[in-house]
Amino acid sequence: MPELPEMQALAERLDAAVTGTSLASVQPIQFSALKTFDPAPESLIGCAVTGIGSRGKYVVFDFDRYRLLVHLSQGGRVDLERPPKKTRPKVGVVRFGFTDTGQGSAAGAGISILIKEFGTERKAGWWVLRSGDDGPLTRLGPQPFSDAFEGLLLSSEDRRRVHTLLRDQRFVAGIGRGYSDDILHRAGVSPYTALAALDQSERRALFDAVREILTEGLAAERRRTGGLPTKIGDHFTVHGRWGQECPRCGTTLRRVSYESHEVTYCPHCQTDDKVLADRRLSRLLR
Ligand SMILES: [Zn+2]
Repeated sequence: MPELPEMQALAERLDAAVTGTSLASVQPIQFSALKTFDPAPESLIGCAVTGIGSRGKYVVFDFDRYRLLVHLSQGGRVDLERPPKKTRPKVGVVRFGFTDTGQGSAAGAGISILIKEFGTERKAGWWVLRSGDDGPLTRLGPQPFSDAFEGLLLSSEDRRRVHTLLRDQRFVAGIGRGYSDDILHRAGVSPYTALAALDQSERRALFDAVREILTEGLAAERRRTGGLPTKIGDHFTVHGRWGQECPRCGTTLRRVSYESHEVTYCPHCQTDDKVLADRRLSRLLR
């Protein structure tokens, strides 16, 4: 699932590719993905792109009078098409065509951005808003690199488990299942500890780990070119690596499985050498 590093690096690539051009076409492919009806998507045609950025798991396209949000959810991916295409692939959600930038080998041909969907549960969506309208962004918590998040993490008396909190987009925007495993491993904190139970030094370690892991992830993501490929998340240190050795202490990494995801942790570094019950495993043994 794309998280802050994937989204921010993707927004940087899209910004370099189309900021300064104008929107030439909108081709909805999967109609339920459009979450707004006013302004109409056609309003964007002819508008100049003034900048592209990311907030949480959204890509934010700013135009002179409008803004366009794209949420990739779990299985959303992006193709940068140069020259632009008109095909209607089965996995297609929507395609945006842009005028030519006048640069590069394909100058004159323009470029298109195809949003694709490979997920089954929560799906990619897009929103057309007027400038200044934050739409669904108002539901997002602070950015992980903000002072607001630092203050929240160091002082909150929230009793939820830290793994749950880090993935809650209203608590902090842009962290999901993958980086939360790596962050908690880096901080040496059990995924099942309540935030309220952590002392100041543990909270500081957790905050530092959030910044370090996301910064490292962003550096890795900035090595990509083009859109966002189907396979991502290959640079995690512990997420998805249960059964392998902990990169810090050599203990075998363990997991706790849920219906739709699993939490990976190191018993030595994070849970005082305790192996946590894994529901999937106990079901098989019963
Ligand atoms: Zn370890």
